[in-house]
Amino acid sequence: MTPAERTPAVDAMLANRLRNAQPALWTNPARQAQPPAALQAQGQSISLDDTQAAADRLARFADLLAQVFPELAATGGVVESPLLPASALQPALGLAEGQGRLFIKADHSLPVAGSIKARGGMHEVLEFAERLALEHGLVQPGGDYRALATPAAREVLGRYQVAVGSTGNLGMSIGVVASALGFQATVHMSADAKEWKKDRLRQRGVQVVEHTGDYERAVAAGRAEAASNPMCHFVDDEQSFSLLLGYSAAALHLQNQLVEQGVAVDAEHPLIVYLPCGVGGAPAGIAFGLRQLLGPHVFCFFAEPVQSPCFMVQMLADTTPGMGDHPSVYDWGLTNRTEADGLAVPRASLLAADLMQPLLSGVFTVADDTLFAQLVLVLDALGECIEPSAAAGFSGPAMLTGTTAGQAWLRSTGIDAVLHNATHLVWTTGGLLVPDAQYQGFVQRGRAALAAQG
Ligand SMILES: *Cc1c(COP(=O)(O)O)cnc(C)c1O
Repeated sequence: MTPAERTPAVDAMLANRLRNAQPALWTNPARQAQPPAALQAQGQSISLDDTQAAADRLARFADLLAQVFPELAATGGVVESPLLPASALQPALGLAEGQGRLFIKADHSLPVAGSIKARGGMHEVLEFAERLALEHGLVQPGGDYRALATPAAREVLGRYQVAVGSTGNLGMSIGVVASALGFQATVHMSADAKEWKKDRLRQRGVQVVEHTGDYERAVAAGRAEAASNPMCHFVDDEQSFSLLLGYSAAALHLQNQLVEQGVAVDAEHPLIVYLPCGVGGAPAGIAFGLRQLLGPHVFCFFAEPVQSPCFMVQMLADTTPGMGDHPSVYDWGLTNRTEADGLAVPRASLLAADLMQPLLSGVFTVADDTLFAQLVLVLDALGECIEPSAAAGFSGPAMLTGTTAGQAWLRSTGIDAVLHNATHLVWTTGGLLVPDAQYQGFVQRGRAALAAQG
């Protein structure tokens, strides 16, 4: 029996759709409009002060980053993405006149790593580097961190190793940043990681260890190896506060971008955010920052592939007695096979799930063909190139306006009455570094999917 069959409390229709890998929407009965300022997750307390500390750390390193990465010279070492109006895409997504305005948060264009992983990954490597730099007297508190680019400082950091387990994009972020600072860098890649990502890392002097198993196996192997080496810092995607806080700093920047573009967020003007979800760290960090910063009228939904809905499965278990503590998508008879390699994760981060319980509005799933079709719609309407994982959020608006579960949620929140004033924000999470030949393959598959839909 699957957990759903044992547990009649889970909506039978949702359980059926989930088990049959059909797109589904779960909404969170435990969401709190006004959560406490400090939240507990995995025994630790986290608040906006931690988010601000992460943003401050990134700012301290900006001059060094601008020096080490030529692509950051123009922004003075700031790693950020634009907020793009996307009304041209609304008709194709089925978002009618009077159902709100669509924007894209364009993390697919984030420099250095080419994905949302630039945020968390960079922050964690910098936090480790900062600790060592202060311990070894390479920089003084408040001093000029460009001192870390000197050969003497790099020699010190080069005694240390940074390791990570990844389906691809986290490895690209950690590997590139760690090796740029002089660390030894090791990336444990799962079987679904793409060859071009491994090649790119090897070209930068990163050691790539290939594993035949899934993402969890790659992480476990990396964690075990790191545990035996006291000079190694392991970036633990399943339980890292540093990663999560690096992601959360995006909220501070987005708040300014919303003001600049005249987007209000209040009871009359809800902000609905759609975030692609793998293990959950990136979307949870961002949702945490947005909810704590902008308040009760921000509604966050996570988007997952139909074969890898690990976060939905975890949230169901957390709100339903008797479903186990940490279920995997395999427990539901699903394969975890998806072309959305950034989201191919069988079991959610418990840190992210804990943190999201009072904050999240819901989770929905998307079929791979839809990801490819929407990747093409984004190209045709906006000229933006995104990878399949990054398209997951685009089903969100129609999930709310066009399904029974979505419409019930719109009514229960009262958003139906102000939907015409709503802002729909789809977070596009990767794509910049995808080689053209790969991207053309995505487009072909997307055009075929669109033609099949008629
Ligand atoms: C990793 C990733 C995500 C999701 O981040 P998690 O922390 O794994 O939930 C989304 N999109 C892309 C492109 C990614 O690489």
